[in-house]
Amino acid sequence: MTQAAPQLLDGKRCSEALRARIAASASDVQARRGRPPHLAAVLVGNDGASRTYVESKVKACQDVGFRSTLIRLPDSITEAELLQRVQELNQDPGLDGFIVQLPLPAHIDADRVTLAIAPEKDVDGFHPENIGRMVLGQPGFLPATPSGIVELLRHYGIPTLGRHCVVIGRSHIVGTPMGILMSRNTDPGNCTVTIAHSRTKDLASITRQADILIVAIGKPEFVTADMVKPGAVVVDVGIHRIDDAARKSGFRLVGDVKFEEVAPKCSWIAPVPGGVGPMTITSLLLNTLKAC
Ligand code: NAD
Repeated sequence: MTQAAPQLLDGKRCSEALRARIAASASDVQARRGRPPHLAAVLVGNDGASRTYVESKVKACQDVGFRSTLIRLPDSITEAELLQRVQELNQDPGLDGFIVQLPLPAHIDADRVTLAIAPEKDVDGFHPENIGRMVLGQPGFLPATPSGIVELLRHYGIPTLGRHCVVIGRSHIVGTPMGILMSRNTDPGNCTVTIAHSRTKDLASITRQADILIVAIGKPEFVTADMVKPGAVVVDVGIHRIDDAARKSGFRLVGDVKFEEVAPKCSWIAPVPGGVGPMTITSLLLNTLKAC
């Protein structure tokens, strides 16, 4: 059964509204403390996608009046040297928060690096202390992508209480924290949550039960119309460049959901690009503001 045209969970618009408030708070901070909130981003190596992500984070900081510092380190850096840099950033009183862009080169243990970041400067919300605080509902930094999705649902007034939320993916940065946030006794929240992953059997029979389907599987256009319940709210976290000779750039961006065929079945859908991506960066800005 086809529904009326779906409404877009427009992360760009939602971000604009939130970023205007963040900019106002940043000038308050500047007036009170004599300096704006300050975020640093550490980029190891020269991976194209990581560089793009980091550069857009730095630009977003500038747009809201934050100070931002991009620290580029070579691929050849040792784990010990990187840990030393992390300690310096932890101790820098002029810095409110920082992120180390993932993935890191294979010779560096990303978990060890995450653990070395001071929890009070961990604006990515990946440190075990912040994950633990999220699970316990205590104040701390929430991971940027899942908390951005919660803000998007809040902005559009999507009812969540008592609804069945299916999350595809159990990564530490998206799927697992997403499931926790949607099941918490908060609004948005209070969902009955199912986490599906690579070992899930008959995935489509589970996704078809979802009132809210959040897809973070990392496979281009994996979710098709037959996997979605009519009227569902669909949030597509995935982001992929695929070749497209018809475009001047030679590529286009797609998500984990086959938008053209899934959108007509949904009540609401977050598009790619322009859905979750801008919200992730906005969450990082909110965390940085909180850190200072
Ligand atoms: P990941 O590769 O770490 O995790 C993918 C998850 O999908 C795994 O937990 C795995 O169990 C599950 N999975 C794999 N195959 C499956 C299958 N056949 N059936 C069911 N589950 C399966 O990826 P991630 O870091 O969570 O990211 C997911 C996607 O989101 C990627 O495309 C990534 O680029 C994108 N992403 C976007 C943003 C953003 O801000 N827009 C932020 C983070 C990640």
